[in-house]
Amino acid sequence: MTERPTFPFDNSFAKLPDYFYSNVAPTAVTKPAMIQFNDTLAADLGLDVAAFHNPAATDIFAGNALPEGAEPIAMAYCGHQFGNLNPELGDGRAIMLGEVIGNDGLRYDIQLKGSGRTPYSRNGDGRAALGPVLREYLLSEAMATLNVPTTRALAAVTTGEQVRRQGMPPGAIITRVARGFVRVGTFVYFAIRGNQTAVKELADYVIARNYPEIKDSANPYLALLESVIDRQALLIAKWMQLGFIHGVMNTDNMSISGETIDYGPCAFIDEYHPGKVFSSIDHQGRYAYQNQPAAGHWDLCRFAEAIVPLMDEDKDAAVAMVQGAINSFPTRYDAYWLTGMSQKIGLTQTTDTDKDADKALIDDLLARMADNQADFTLTFYHLSDALAGSDDNDVMIRDLFTDASSFDEWAVKWRRRLGDESATDAERQQRMHQINPLYIPRNHLVEAVIRAGEDHLDFEPFYELMEVLRKPCTVQAGKEKYAMPPIKTEVVHQTFCGT
Ligand code: AMP
Ligand code: MG
Repeated sequence: MTERPTFPFDNSFAKLPDYFYSNVAPTAVTKPAMIQFNDTLAADLGLDVAAFHNPAATDIFAGNALPEGAEPIAMAYCGHQFGNLNPELGDGRAIMLGEVIGNDGLRYDIQLKGSGRTPYSRNGDGRAALGPVLREYLLSEAMATLNVPTTRALAAVTTGEQVRRQGMPPGAIITRVARGFVRVGTFVYFAIRGNQTAVKELADYVIARNYPEIKDSANPYLALLESVIDRQALLIAKWMQLGFIHGVMNTDNMSISGETIDYGPCAFIDEYHPGKVFSSIDHQGRYAYQNQPAAGHWDLCRFAEAIVPLMDEDKDAAVAMVQGAINSFPTRYDAYWLTGMSQKIGLTQTTDTDKDADKALIDDLLARMADNQADFTLTFYHLSDALAGSDDNDVMIRDLFTDASSFDEWAVKWRRRLGDESATDAERQQRMHQINPLYIPRNHLVEAVIRAGEDHLDFEPFYELMEVLRKPCTVQAGKEKYAMPPIKTEVVHQTFCGT
């Protein structure tokens, strides 16, 4: 007989003053059933994996039973939604159970999403539909495998109930794990209420938890701002390098820990287009692919405004410091972008004098991809096979361009540039294959998973796609269809929050 599942909780957020959260327990559901439990993540968190293969674990992840030591809370925050400040948001359907220290020594929040109403639910039902839960599970785990900072998925369950959305899809709950769920909007919530004490307590909390290396710096709050700016610059550069569109980069969806959070109408690009938008609610394209760095910068300005009073008693001095930090975002982002993109095309030895030329080379490739409806993921994947430069090796990539000569023209410049470096083609190819995925959770694949789940409670497509995505850069025999772009009838034009 296995032991009952337990978490070695070590809670810290719930010990902060009570204005940061509301104490609220999940609402029980009728007939919970486990869809997936993430053994690997559980082991990394120091949990007893075997104990979670037990019906008692389903009850915990459904919110029907509270594990020992849990201090369930919903966090307060606000947010600028598509640029407009909404002063009241908060966890309307998420409840944090508590925190654990992982095997890496870092602190992680364990949070149920879809677990019932909270004081922040406003008109919402506090629930999540199965489709968005499956999407979040797939995409967040895929991002983690691709080395993108992100919340993780520990478990997903169905509730046995239906939720009222477009139609009546089955309800589900996802258990998310994060280095912290504090958002830009958490700071803004207290700043706009004039609660400077809370802003300072929150800043001290995230410094101690997420940025301990800066706590002794001359001005820890300025260092916090710089660190958050730097992590977001890196994060958004990584999104861009994978063709990922978050879709709702509101200030309540920007994490202070620098993780990708709140997977809503997010999606990966198939055919490359810089202005691509999937989200059904993003009418102006505010969060279009190419606007993501600017949107991130805008959100960071709101963070800076919220913490500017902490910087210096002298208002002008404080503003000058903050301005300097904020102005560094484009430079930091450009540097991360160029480093990552250079690696994607096989370059390793970029010197300062190469930088402008390398950026122009990459921009030229992207422009040709857009003009020729080339698939983003497959272009970079097949680029490594084109290294040797014989026509045979170029077949795959040339096929992706409506006018293959456009690729050929670019390839001449690319090969000339590669010739400046000492690496052999084999070495280069091996490196490129490690960072350019062949398999990503393409929209049409995710859509098929969602349809099978919502329409038939059939999770086989989910399990199969999860399995393929575990090794995104390795060719897997028999899994060709998972690498293919959608055929015309499979193309997903819009994605929905499903909230
Ligand atoms: P999201 O789009 O998931 O980032 O959510 C934006 C805000 O709406 C957050 O404050 C959520 O907690 C809240 N929200 C979204 N869906 C629901 C729901 N079904 N019930 C209650 N609150 C919700
Ligand atoms: Mg959100």
